[in-house]
Amino acid sequence: MKLISIVISMYNEESGIAFFSNNLIKELERIKNYNFEILWINDGSLDNTQLNIEKSCSAGKENVKHVFIQFSRNFGHEAAMLAGIDNSCGEAVICMDADGQHPPAEINEMLKAYEEEHEIVLMQRTDREDHGLIKSSMSKMFYTIINKLSVVKFQENASDFFLISQKIAELLKQDFRDSNRFLRGFIQEVGFNKKVLEYTAPKREFGESNYSFFKLMKMAFNVVFAFSNKPLRIVILISISFFLFTIAFGGYSLVQYFIADSIPSGYTSIIFFISLSFSLMFLVLTILSIYFEKTIKEIKRRPIYIVRKIEIQD
Ligand code: UDP
Ligand code: MG
Repeated sequence: MKLISIVISMYNEESGIAFFSNNLIKELERIKNYNFEILWINDGSLDNTQLNIEKSCSAGKENVKHVFIQFSRNFGHEAAMLAGIDNSCGEAVICMDADGQHPPAEINEMLKAYEEEHEIVLMQRTDREDHGLIKSSMSKMFYTIINKLSVVKFQENASDFFLISQKIAELLKQDFRDSNRFLRGFIQEVGFNKKVLEYTAPKREFGESNYSFFKLMKMAFNVVFAFSNKPLRIVILISISFFLFTIAFGGYSLVQYFIADSIPSGYTSIIFFISLSFSLMFLVLTILSIYFEKTIKEIKRRPIYIVRKIEIQD
């Protein structure tokens, strides 16, 4: 029988994890012709997530095997997904959240799409019940900006709920090891046969969202700089136009110097020029240093995550 891996990232999900895992396992038992391994990645939770998940998975099920991976500390959702993908053995890997916002009932449809020769199945939220106006317009703005800046076009409303074949998992294991990552981006970048399925994300019933406004901004920022070198080019363009303007203005001043009776005081324009050029210079330096910082980080090749413990339960 075919083996399918399911990767679940968990961070402080003690309140809802038992409910979710029961739901998931019930759903998987219903799907015949497959064996499943569920990789439960505990991303350094500070609560009883680990205890609760091990307890709720203790009853053995015929076609479901569990793998528990614990990180040494919190490394973030992306790192957790990658750890699951790294340790997966299935011929396809499905990533999903542990908070119930990625309904296990969709897995059947995803597998159907996979069987129709799609190596990537992206789940697209139609609407998020818990998304306020601010969060949705922010997400819209994020995709507009990143799609303008980046060579790769990102599917709007794509989520961290997706299926990839082992071939793509292998690519992520071997070749896409940037320390500044955005898995959704990579998955849309590699090509292959894709299918987009729609689903409605239910409200988070337990716990709280871990993505604060600040974290989302940080992610958007990382994505812009990871997938695009346009900020660098834009700054170069600004500098060139400013240089041309300087030449024109310089020429004008020179002509004035010879034609006019008295030398214009020019105090204002000097101040204007100096401040503008300094600000531009600093802008260029800032942008350069951002790329520089990213480069240093990549060169170091620090581990993306550190595993404290792996337990396999058949
Ligand atoms: N998560 C994680 N590490 C983190 C933050 C979140 O593994 O540092 C998990 C979390 O437990 C959940 C999933 O990633 O299963 C998505 O997180 P969340 O629900 O907070 O994000 P949202 O759905 O609001 O985008
Ligand atoms: Mg969530």
